[in-house]
Amino acid sequence: GMEGRAALVTGGTSGIGLAIAQRLAQDGLRVAVLDLDRPQAREVAQAHGLTFIGADLSLRADCRRAVDETVTALGGLDVLVNNAGFQHIDPIAAFPEDTWDAMLHVMLTAPFLLSKYTWPHLTRSGQGRIVNVASIHGHVASPFKSAYISAKHGLIGLTRTAALEAGEQGLTVNAICPGYVRTPLVEGQIADQARTRGLTEQEVEQKVMLEPAAIKRLLNPEDIAALASYVVSPAAWGMTGAVLDLDLGWTAR
Ligand code: NAD
Repeated sequence: GMEGRAALVTGGTSGIGLAIAQRLAQDGLRVAVLDLDRPQAREVAQAHGLTFIGADLSLRADCRRAVDETVTALGGLDVLVNNAGFQHIDPIAAFPEDTWDAMLHVMLTAPFLLSKYTWPHLTRSGQGRIVNVASIHGHVASPFKSAYISAKHGLIGLTRTAALEAGEQGLTVNAICPGYVRTPLVEGQIADQARTRGLTEQEVEQKVMLEPAAIKRLLNPEDIAALASYVVSPAAWGMTGAVLDLDLGWTAR
């Protein structure tokens, strides 16, 4: 069963990460959430009964310390969910170089570092799990999101490599690729696009964001959490190196 296992969810005080953390806690796991150390993030964790680990994933030393703190707080670690991320939109010719570095670090290097540092713990039980939250933008591109799309494509490569290395130890490594999910990250993009395109927020949702989708409705964070729950469960022991699309039919065309 899931009871007694311990999980760390990065970016776990907002959006998809918070939904995954709550779902894993409901499933009976002990759950820590890693996020930028802000009063509001600590309050969210506390309100949901989740252990809070403050860290900035753009810093290598924070990744190391966060793993040590998590293992101490939870008494071990069986499940790592690499979920933290953020978006920045600019054409390549104007893309800020420091923003590129930070995005690649948070969304690709940190998942590598956390996988590396947690590996001895995740391989102990014979049913360890790494779940990487990628994106449809791990498969396909859109203009003006060069750093995000590069990081997410890379995260799929890391997922497949780690899966091959982990198989003997019963540790599975999978990627989840959501389409648009209603979270603070996407609400921000909807508001920005409405402003810059002179559309209503409803029009941005239907005509811009959901234009390539077969199902014209934004996903909810709980939809992603339900898939993560299955991937983490013992029943999913044979699924590894998989890239799981939950994308409203976006990549079907
Ligand atoms: P969100 O903004 O609601 O949550 C992201 C969390 O990551 C925040 O709590 C933020 O503080 C944290 N974070 C950002 N930078 C960090 C850093 N340097 N150190 C530690 N924590 C940091 O976003 P979300 O929509 O829930 O996105 C979660 C993940 O899902 C991201 O990787 C995102 O790329 C991916 N995703 C989202 C969507 C979507 O439509 N919302 C679609 C596909 C993929």
